[in-house]
Amino acid sequence: MVVGTGHSRIILHSHTSPGSRFTVFPLLSDMTSDSLLDGHLHRHCGGRYARASESVTIRVSGMSAVVDRTFFRCDRCGDERRTVEQRELAEQAAVAAMRDEHGLLKPKEIRQRRERIGVTTAQFGDLLFGVPQGIVAGWEKGRYLQNPQVDALIRSLDDPETLVYRAARGGVVLPQSSESEGTEDGTVTEDGNAAPQRLVEANAPSSPGEA
Ligand SMILES: [Zn+2]
Repeated sequence: MVVGTGHSRIILHSHTSPGSRFTVFPLLSDMTSDSLLDGHLHRHCGGRYARASESVTIRVSGMSAVVDRTFFRCDRCGDERRTVEQRELAEQAAVAAMRDEHGLLKPKEIRQRRERIGVTTAQFGDLLFGVPQGIVAGWEKGRYLQNPQVDALIRSLDDPETLVYRAARGGVVLPQSSESEGTEDGTVTEDGNAAPQRLVEANAPSSPGEA
């Protein structure tokens, strides 16, 4: 009995006094912990900014994505700061999510398509019913994101007949590329004579120049 009460008293005692200190000590200790030393001092209140995370909906070109965005919050007054880098990272994450969700072409894939056709960014825009040159350049640099409708338009240029048709409608003179060999590109080469001549040699009866 004596041992029991003594024992329990000792345990109770040793738990209570350090425990009550602990409730105060961590608060003081937190002020100098590594995570808060990394934050900036908020001079207005003397608090420090710590990293926090929030879920935000970002909208681009009629699409939207929900992403996590980090920001800084003052541990004393709650003031919030969002840096340009934090915003940009969130926007990049959102754009990547939208590309995935809608299966959109990547900047590099758009540039490759344009280069394969062999036209300038301005001409490429003309093939897409007059998209401004700056927008096309922005797609290729990843600064702008094409919406699914425009993405489908870009992909439709993979079809040689569609490409020729759009070039005619947009007033774009397509280069005489070896890749378009075998397609009926004679329809847009009124002023070029290399392709029609080849057609004449290869297949004289069907050549419009011969008729
Ligand atoms: Zn503050």
